[in-house]
Amino acid sequence: MVHQAGPESNFCDAGPPRVHSPPMKRVIAVANQKGGVGKTTTAVNLAASLAATKRRVMLLDLDPQGNATMGSGVDKSQLQASSVDVLLGDIEIGAALVRVDPGGFDLLPANQDLTAAEVRLLTMMAGRETKLRNAVAPLRESYDVILIDCPPALNMLTVNSLVAADSVLIPMQCEYYALEGLSALVGTIEQIKSAANESLEIEGILRTMFDPRNNLANEVSAQLIMHFGDKVFRTIIPRNIRLAEAPSFGKPVLFHDRESRGALAYLALAGEMIRREEEEQQQMATQPATPGDEGAEAADESGNAEVVPNSL
Ligand code: ADP
Ligand code: MG
Repeated sequence: MVHQAGPESNFCDAGPPRVHSPPMKRVIAVANQKGGVGKTTTAVNLAASLAATKRRVMLLDLDPQGNATMGSGVDKSQLQASSVDVLLGDIEIGAALVRVDPGGFDLLPANQDLTAAEVRLLTMMAGRETKLRNAVAPLRESYDVILIDCPPALNMLTVNSLVAADSVLIPMQCEYYALEGLSALVGTIEQIKSAANESLEIEGILRTMFDPRNNLANEVSAQLIMHFGDKVFRTIIPRNIRLAEAPSFGKPVLFHDRESRGALAYLALAGEMIRREEEEQQQMATQPATPGDEGAEAADESGNAEVVPNSL
């Protein structure tokens, strides 16, 4: 059951008051220009898993294919308002949100109309990269986490997502060409960092559809860890049929088969992200950052980014 809802429905619901939960990195773009790597599966199921931990979650569908919309049980052919209207500034984001139930999060839905927005953005003279950031701004503080499901391209929609985001979560399949694609994405992230969004970080690289019996997958996984170290999530998403079939029921996997390996893996990912965030906060509280520390971290990140060989 889905109904049009603003974010207030999120916190005014009757029920126990929310336990104070530490803030997470607010806006996370789920991006990889390669299609079929698990972006949408990750966006929908991470949204539901974080919502299950009582976080207030918004999911933005920024892909004209509208897969996150359908996978959340919302009919993309029946939308009264969608991300195109919000992106072009025709309506406020709150007016286009739908409540996903079961799911426990708010969705900005999308359909193929979004392709027109991309074309409109391309022809704009100024401010075209910051449209999404500005549209999200009024509700940014009302959510603990806002996930953006990006399209499979490094286009203006993805650029808008990266400019609006605090961090990028990169799902990837451990295949032969995966690292090559990754270096293109890391290059784009670096460009956006220097041009429009200085504080953009890599949230983490997520190994998806993983089959441990596949030697190549294990090799690529080892290389990933060598190049990106702690940026690779420890949680691995296995190949799991329940994850593949859940969208046909219009539900996150947690509400399709909560005991499945897929559901447990996305809950584990949410747990890992929350733990990381708590650890970072504790570190910040105990050791006040010095300019030297910040420099070291930045150097480490950009160093990591540069060592991905193009030949991989
Ligand atoms: P993207 O958004 O990157 O294009 P999707 O999330 O749509 O990728 O995933 C591509 C296809 O693979 C979909 O049919 C999806 O159901 C399936 N899929 C994604 N992750 C898994 C997984 N861990 N196990 C099995 N199938 C998966
Ligand atoms: Mg997708």
